[in-house]
Amino acid sequence: MIIDGKIIASQIEEEIKSELKIGVPKLSAVVIGSDEGTLSYMRNIQKVGERIGVEVNIHSLPEESKTEEVINLISNLQTDGIIVAKPIPSHIDERKVIASIPPSKDVDCLHPVNLGRLFLNDPLFYPCTPLAVIEILKRTGIEISGKDVVIIGRSDVVGKPLAVMLMQRGVDATVTICHTKTRDLESHTRRADILIVAAGRPEFVKSKMVKKGAVVIDVGINVKNNRLVGDVDFNEVRKVASWITPVPGGVGPVTSRILMKNVIKASKLNRESSRRL
Ligand code: NAD
Repeated sequence: MIIDGKIIASQIEEEIKSELKIGVPKLSAVVIGSDEGTLSYMRNIQKVGERIGVEVNIHSLPEESKTEEVINLISNLQTDGIIVAKPIPSHIDERKVIASIPPSKDVDCLHPVNLGRLFLNDPLFYPCTPLAVIEILKRTGIEISGKDVVIIGRSDVVGKPLAVMLMQRGVDATVTICHTKTRDLESHTRRADILIVAAGRPEFVKSKMVKKGAVVIDVGINVKNNRLVGDVDFNEVRKVASWITPVPGGVGPVTSRILMKNVIKASKLNRESSRRL
């Protein structure tokens, strides 16, 4: 069966609208350079924000900006949440830039403090895409506890934090992470009750790599022959999977709603800390 991410996204949207009681939370998105894909992603975030009641401001900087200029912009932002759009040009020190975001405004959960808190199961924010994957599983009624979950991809934004979240007490999955140096990938993926793919390789997971009846969550977003495709060969794999997310219309729309949820939480944290001053 196909998991409709848009339905789950609108459920979350209704829930977060009811949390919006005071003021308009603000999200600042820093975009370095003029990558069309990034800008269109940010405009989409802006539209989602408009519908929910979150103000999204895009702050564009030229491609050739220096690390200090990006940090300077970030330190002058009067806002509740801050994200820095990827890809970040390679001459910029990404770690320094992320570390300059106050942890209470780091709604993408990339700051070392926030990743440490996530690791210790005491998070300020959950990272958006990993939480989107877990929400999709839970809201579809898929049991996670005790299941063999295999993740393809070990990035700091998806694979690694998702593995940590899935293995925490209370979620209780048995997690395997696969990456480019994994030997005999198929022997791992074929064992998975739940297979999560975040490799950035268009349609590379084929049906022979998937156990019959497995749940397949496709995080990938790739452009192939001018259309958006995931990391999973959807038409093949849907025949063996019990549940599968499509691309587009799967993980993506849920991720943007989780981002809005984090911005609302950040604005509450902001109000609480200014009340204490
Ligand atoms: P990344 O490039 O940082 O990491 C990819 C990971 O996949 C690496 O750890 C690598 O070891 C692994 N990998 C690549 N090819 C492999 C192979 N053949 N076998 C085994 N492992 C392999 O990517 P990322 O930032 O984690 O993003 C992954 C995909 O998810 C991309 O397509 C990206 O666009 C998409 N993405 C989607 C969302 C969303 O909200 N839907 C959010 C973030 C990223």
